[in-house]
Amino acid sequence: MAKVLIIGAGGVGTVVAHKCAQNPEVFTEIVIASRTKSKCDAVAKAIGKPNITTDSVDADSVPQLVELFRRHKPELVINVALPYQDLTIMDACLECGVNYLDTANYEPKDEAHFEYSWQWAYKERFEQAGLTAILGCGFDPGVSGVFTAYAAKHWFKAMETLDIVDCNAGNHGKAFATNFNPEINIREITQNGRYYQDGKWITTGPLEIHKTLTYPNIGGRDSYLLYHEELESLVKNYPTIKRARFWMTFGQEYLTHLRVIQNIGMARIDEVDYNGTKIVPLQFLKAVLPDPQDLGKNYHGETSIGCRISGIDKDGKPLNYYIYNNCSHEEAFKETGMQAVSYTTGVPAMIGAMMFLKGLWRKPGVYNVEEFDPDPFMEQLPVQGLPWHEIIGGDLEV
Ligand code: NDP
Repeated sequence: MAKVLIIGAGGVGTVVAHKCAQNPEVFTEIVIASRTKSKCDAVAKAIGKPNITTDSVDADSVPQLVELFRRHKPELVINVALPYQDLTIMDACLECGVNYLDTANYEPKDEAHFEYSWQWAYKERFEQAGLTAILGCGFDPGVSGVFTAYAAKHWFKAMETLDIVDCNAGNHGKAFATNFNPEINIREITQNGRYYQDGKWITTGPLEIHKTLTYPNIGGRDSYLLYHEELESLVKNYPTIKRARFWMTFGQEYLTHLRVIQNIGMARIDEVDYNGTKIVPLQFLKAVLPDPQDLGKNYHGETSIGCRISGIDKDGKPLNYYIYNNCSHEEAFKETGMQAVSYTTGVPAMIGAMMFLKGLWRKPGVYNVEEFDPDPFMEQLPVQGLPWHEIIGGDLEV
């Protein structure tokens, strides 16, 4: 059907490439390009299909991206590099007439701050160019938005509270490691928490609010309130929501390491002078921490991510609704060589690309996933390795 270009060959890029290759009737040609070409070559070799080629690019450079796009002429770019590259890749898409999909919203390198305004500002230009940009199509953001859209379409007249709950009950056997890019991960967790209540955003201290939540097949886990990007688009697209929050589980060992990292200044994102060389401590830390891509081998246990929603059902009665997916680290590794955090991000990115290429999620402009029909995406989730389940009328605990 079409040629796709995957930018980024990390944990998520590897899963996207595997899953695209498993659906050759949709993804007839696949190009993987990243800063380090050898990583793309290793992914292509592991998959071992003739329709995959590789290339190198510095995605911070629009001219390099434009050259890459002109060389390969893809119909869609799947951006699974880092959030810093979102805008340069969107600029190159506009210049070359290429459609766009990503899994994380733009963040400037020098400020740990993320919001959609930078990317939403491209809406008119994408509309005028007749191009589609699909934002935040991993698991959270991504499936969390599709789950919410599905609940709104099939269950609720008015959703009133939304709690997105993200549990990783896996164990990789390392003293400290992050499950995706350490720099992005530590920036996300160490900033203030934030949630939406009655039309206002309420700021909390970092990891200040926490409670035990029970996850299916896992049990009770301490869960911490964080700010997460999909809250911004979901409260805008579903104005009946009065309260929206995001929770993530962390173990005590992880939090102790994180506290030490912060206390000794290794989470700093400003430049410091080290023997005449400028270094950013958090980037240096990334270089010495375990690579998230290498965690898969000894990872046991599973993730459980879902949406707990309360409100008024289609018949006007109160409804509690919980929709979730559990994903096994071992199964993810057997299939793609990556752990479940990369798997649960890469599979939805591939499905979003499939939705676009099949013409089901195609409309000129810049959109978050909940603005498309959730049904064909929900149909694909179990087919592609991410089955989902619903609990109706249970205790939401939130
Ligand atoms: P990794 O760090 O494992 O991989 C990032 C890849 O991008 C690497 O191959 C890296 O190349 C490449 N890259 C970085 N900078 C550039 C550049 N300037 N030009 C070209 N390539 C570049 O990260 P992950 O795979 O774990 O995460 C990928 C994305 O997925 C991130 O944006 C992350 O925020 C997002 N994510 C989204 C989730 C969701 O549910 N929505 C969950 C988890 C992650 P090199 O190897 O040379 O460094």
